[in-house]
Amino acid sequence: MENLLKYLFPPKCIFCRNEGEVFCDTCLAECSLLTAQYCLVCDLPSEGGFTHTQCAERLKGTAPSRLLGVYSYDGKVRECIKFSKYGAKQFLSLRKLCREAADVCAEMWGGITPDLCLPIPSSPQKLSYRGFNQANMIAEEFCRKFKLSLNKELLIRVRNTEAQHTQDREGRRENVKGSFAVTAPANVKGKKILLVDDISTTGATFLESAKVLYEAGAAEVQCFALSKREKVCYNGAAHDRA
Ligand SMILES: [Zn+2]
Ligand SMILES: [Zn+2]
Repeated sequence: MENLLKYLFPPKCIFCRNEGEVFCDTCLAECSLLTAQYCLVCDLPSEGGFTHTQCAERLKGTAPSRLLGVYSYDGKVRECIKFSKYGAKQFLSLRKLCREAADVCAEMWGGITPDLCLPIPSSPQKLSYRGFNQANMIAEEFCRKFKLSLNKELLIRVRNTEAQHTQDREGRRENVKGSFAVTAPANVKGKKILLVDDISTTGATFLESAKVLYEAGAAEVQCFALSKREKVCYNGAAHDRA
């Protein structure tokens, strides 16, 4: 039935309108990968996205050990994430991007072996339409690809945060303080956890979530971001994406 529908009404790419797929390979190829991996704490480049030793010390053992990011939050990636909650085609285009990102991830980092994969729970302003949370979909695709165990209820949001786009790095850290809680600490204790989100801007959300997970006894927290805002390239190849 699905194939017949596809034959009668071939899907069109939401970007270039070409027939075939909701996110065609040509448009997908235009999505830029991050030029480097970054430390979550200081946002400076770091090989493999590992948190610098001195940055981890500064946060007294509450920082994630690593941030893995795939796409630059820019162009079609940005549109795909922004529009994903507005309709079925947009939703499917994000799924396609997530699958692609999981493939990229598998090549770049090999097997990912956490005990649990947790999506970052949505902020109320993001959840305004049909309760759709992009992080959930990314986590689902990751768990499918890497055979991970997904839990959407273990990490919850307990406090509304204000819209974040006007705040600087320190302001954002303050703003998300006390926003998250772990519902069943016993299920976190001693576990290696992968936190997943659609975009990492200042890292404040990941840092705060990781903190409550470590407080609940997590052995290690790593983070995955489908995309990351990359303002400056540090090694000469400058793209200012402000
Ligand atoms: Zn296209
Ligand atoms: Zn650092």
